[in-house]
Amino acid sequence: MGTISKDFSYSEFERSETAARRGIVNVIATARVRDSIQALVINVLQPLRTALGVPMPVNSGYRCPELNEAVGGVPTSQHVKGEAADIATAMPIRMARKAVELGLPFDQMGLYPDFVHISHKLGGPQRGHVFYSKDYKGERL
Ligand SMILES: [Zn+2]
Repeated sequence: MGTISKDFSYSEFERSETAARRGIVNVIATARVRDSIQALVINVLQPLRTALGVPMPVNSGYRCPELNEAVGGVPTSQHVKGEAADIATAMPIRMARKAVELGLPFDQMGLYPDFVHISHKLGGPQRGHVFYSKDYKGERL
């Protein structure tokens, strides 16, 4: 399905070590999921990537229901809709501050020790909700 923006492609949203290991075929199957990923990238991830000027590896993007279950995600996870991505970073607070500073339209942003979960609802509204994982000990917004 190819390129979404300058720095993001659909394939990195489908890539999953867990899926590969378990033989789960994690492929974007509907236009709505594809549109949701595109909206997340265009409205939130690419502007953030451009402002930060550093790579933003997608740890976990789209999850088909089987993969979501395999990684222990809640059934209502926005990853299943293509509305969320976990971005690897050694500095979650830096990424979070930049997203807020830029006024990016995120629905939820969660800070974890080594990644940031960011979501964007296709068609909105965006809640702009920030949360911290139980094991996140770093600075807060
Ligand atoms: Zn996530």
